[in-house]
Parts: sequence; structure tokens; C-alpha cells
Amino acid sequence: MRVEIIPCLKDNYSYLIIDDKNNSACVIDPSEDKPIVDYLKNKNINLKYILNTHHHPDHIGGNKNLKKIFKSVVVGFKEDYNRIPEIDIFLKDNQIWRAENFIAKIIHTPGHTSGHICYHFFEDQLIFTGDTLFSLGCGRIFEGTHSQMYESLEKIKALPEKTKIYCGHEYTFSNSKFCLKYDPTNKKLIKKISDLKKKIDNGFPSIPSTLKDEMECNIFLKAKDQKSFSKLRDLKDNF
Ligand code: ZN
Ligand code: FE
Repeated sequence: MRVEIIPCLKDNYSYLIIDDKNNSACVIDPSEDKPIVDYLKNKNINLKYILNTHHHPDHIGGNKNLKKIFKSVVVGFKEDYNRIPEIDIFLKDNQIWRAENFIAKIIHTPGHTSGHICYHFFEDQLIFTGDTLFSLGCGRIFEGTHSQMYESLEKIKALPEKTKIYCGHEYTFSNSKFCLKYDPTNKKLIKKISDLKKKIDNGFPSIPSTLKDEMECNIFLKAKDQKSFSKLRDLKDNF
């Protein structure tokens, strides 16, 4: 399996997870259809599945057209059945979703929205975290509580360190300023920011990150308890 990063809209990332043996792919969070159609048609790859982490427009915007064009199957959290457009397959927390050669564990991560899920492709050692965990940041809490968001991040922290993190937005550089303000002596963070600047200056995405990097540099994952996490989240909302 390989992952292709498809920049969408202003700062979203959609991801294709591609099975080259079968010329088939899943898309994670298609913000819009066009860049995804362009990539797939060009390479003659068939889009079998559309996986959504949550219902926000910048994550589901391409569902309808992509389903129409490729006859793809739309997959999402069962409790969001009425707000994920064109949903066909209803997932539960902790479920193993398996289709063709694609296999992922579903991790329910409420906080940003009540129905947010992450897709952990454990055999490939990567996770699609949508708007729950960003590189050097985490999602805003819209529908859940601080304690839910904290618990959701704890679930991700329990995965193997080398897990690659593919998140929903390119917010890394802007997030880095907040981390640096409240953790100015973190050498690993300073190194990550300098690597990050090089990538961005050369026109590359900062993604993927790794769980190890995030545990060492992301101030939200470094928070020692729920109380300090909540304080940081509030500070970030007004940063
Ligand atoms: Zn969102
Ligand atoms: Fe988003």
C-alpha cells in the first residue's frame, strides 16, 4: 500500500491509499472531487471506497460526485449516518474494517465532533486522524468536551511510536508557533520546526508526521493531565 497526498481547498489534505497490485484505492476525506478524479484517471486507478473521518464539509465535499463517477462505496461512523452524504457502510468503535486488501481499525475519537473516527491501518503502520490530531496541534472542540478530546488523544498515544500520522489539514507551521511559545526549550521541537521550514519552502507537505515526533513535540500530547490539556486548548483558541 502506498499513500498519495492530495492537497485540496485552501489547506486540506485528502489521501489516497493505493493498492498498486489491483489498481484500486480508497480516499480518506475527499474535500472536493476534482483533484482526486484528476489523479486517479491519469493513473487509471479505480476508487473503491470513500472513508470519512467526520461530517464537516471540508471532509465530505467530494463524496457525492466521486461515488457517482467511480461507483465507490462510502464508509463512515454509524452514529453519523444522517450527516455523512451517501453513506453505505456504518462503522462502530473498535471495529476492524476489511475490504479487498484494505484493513483498518476504527477508533472513535469524539471531541472535534461527536462522531469523529480515526482509521488506523495497523498493518501499514499509519493512521488518518482527520481533525482530531494535527501535526503539532489538535482539533478545536466543537461538539465534545475537553475531557472527551483528551481521552481521544490518549487512544492515539497508545499506538506504536513509529505509526505515521496523516491529518486533515496543513496547519503544522502555524501550530508550531503555539508549541514554541509554551515549550521554548524543547530541542526536538526546535529541530522539527527547522526541518518543517525546509519542507514547506521547497513546496512539500509537512505530512506525514510520526507518533514519536508528536509525543516529543506536540504540546497537546505532552500535557501531563486533562487539566493542563484543557488549559492549553483554551489558550490555543485565543492564540
Ligand atoms: Zn472538521
Ligand atoms: Fe477540517
